[in-house]
Amino acid sequence: MKYLCVEPGCSMNTTVNRRSRLVYMDHAATTPVRPEVVEEMLPCFTERFGNPSSVYALAREARVTLEKARRQVADAIGANPKEIYFTSGGTEADNWAIKGVAAANRKKGDHIITSAIEHHAVIHTCQSLEKQGYRVTYLPVDEFGRVDPASVEEAITDKTILVSVMTANNEIGTIQPVAEIAKVAHDHGVPFHTDAVQAIGAIPIDVDNMGIDLLSLSGHKFGGPKGTGALYIRDKTRIGTFMDGGAQERGRRAGTENVPGIVGLGKAIELAVAEMPEKSPRLAAMRDRLIKGILETIPETRLNGHPTERLPNNVNVAFRYVEGESILLMLDALGIAASTGSACTSASLEPSHVLVACGLPHEEAHGSLRLTLGSRNTEEDVDYVLEVLPRVIERLRRMSPLSPERYA
Ligand code: PMP
Repeated sequence: MKYLCVEPGCSMNTTVNRRSRLVYMDHAATTPVRPEVVEEMLPCFTERFGNPSSVYALAREARVTLEKARRQVADAIGANPKEIYFTSGGTEADNWAIKGVAAANRKKGDHIITSAIEHHAVIHTCQSLEKQGYRVTYLPVDEFGRVDPASVEEAITDKTILVSVMTANNEIGTIQPVAEIAKVAHDHGVPFHTDAVQAIGAIPIDVDNMGIDLLSLSGHKFGGPKGTGALYIRDKTRIGTFMDGGAQERGRRAGTENVPGIVGLGKAIELAVAEMPEKSPRLAAMRDRLIKGILETIPETRLNGHPTERLPNNVNVAFRYVEGESILLMLDALGIAASTGSACTSASLEPSHVLVACGLPHEEAHGSLRLTLGSRNTEEDVDYVLEVLPRVIERLRRMSPLSPERYA
């Protein structure tokens, strides 16, 4: 039987099985677009629909809204608006940063350094460059998913043209020592890129203080629309164009801009960063209550990721003898939306490359559950998860062929 989502203020007309409310705990996958953002976007579809490339008043108005959004994005990361280039999301920003720097520096060198736990938008981009003859070092991480800046120093050579390490991991929430890694890169004259898709609105980002030369972000991770994002490119960074065509984005990324989406991105990032000082500690307290409650009530459970250097909204736990996908299905039936750790791989057929890099045996890298909190989550949501999850795991362990006799 299906019911409509009746959560107060919920704009998601979602149907959920058997429960009248949806406990959405998958904010690392995507977030609902905030009402203030929708309000800002709507006129750009209707009365303010001009093409920013044209010259008349309607078009100039679109140009003005676009430039306002560019300033909002720049302010959020301590950049200059002229260093912000709009993209179709985090994936495009990562592709452009890595392929663009690789192409522009081919004569200088052919070596790229990244980490083993990057998002596939980085890993697969690097793999495609390897097929073109570039060499890539995938830095190892410790058991908590942290890159050691000393390993960058060891890997770097005079042929290295880029270091790319994410600010925070999408599966396990581990925050990297980005400023230290950037310093090593700069000491060797190498530019530093970071995928900050999960970090924006969760932890403070300042491109100058952190030594970031290129930064990827994505609108739908912090209350903005899907299909929007930006690449920050520090002035004078050598990088090729990404899309050929018209002169949009100062000739580096052609194509009529997604004006409504960009306007939404600008508004969303402004709100996300302004609310962060209040929101992040509130989410961190709920996160800690979830982690403590889960570890205390469910035996043979492991916390993945770093215990403290961790995104405020990320819980990632693995339950022995239980597959992640089966937990998700049972939670879905109970009105809880969550992910397995490896949300971006093709279901659990593949073990999580992140958990494998953290040293987990393959058979244990299938079973993690990722709960990621957002501003609409309440203490009651946490109570509900803590109430049902132990029963779900116990039931699955009883059914699991992997379980030892005591669970059978
Ligand atoms: N990088 C990270 C760390 C992400 O979590 C994601 C989204 N899962 C992306 C890149 C891709 O962003 P987008 O969905 O905007 O293409």
